[in-house]
Amino acid sequence: MSDGFTPELISRCGINCRTCVGYFGYRLDGQRQAPCGGCLTREKFCGFVKDYCKKHADKDKIRYCSECEDFPCENFRKIDEYYSGKYGVSLIENFNHIKSKGMEDFLRSERARWKCAACGGVVCVHTKRCYTCKP
Ligand SMILES: [Zn+2]
Repeated sequence: MSDGFTPELISRCGINCRTCVGYFGYRLDGQRQAPCGGCLTREKFCGFVKDYCKKHADKDKIRYCSECEDFPCENFRKIDEYYSGKYGVSLIENFNHIKSKGMEDFLRSERARWKCAACGGVVCVHTKRCYTCKP
């Protein structure tokens, strides 16, 4: 059975939705919510990029922001800076990894990076909690 580390859960901007607080069924403020199926399943909620991205209309042609001719655009660099600073994950580094070693290798490293030492579950990138053993 899949543990959810799949290309489908890598968002357009390179976030691993598998480790997102929303995927675990929580909001950032700790409230429960219906679990999110990942950014690709709810495109209109792409809060980071869409509103600023002139290329977003070409989304059928561009799977990842890294495929865009403007990558990394100013807006993307801002997002990367924010995400790196707040959560310790660089989306540009994610794409560099995918580009140099391939998606499968990236997913393998993600699986290892976010594995809960206590129970083997998945640690959340946003809250650094494991919702399997510390719900
Ligand atoms: Zn755990």
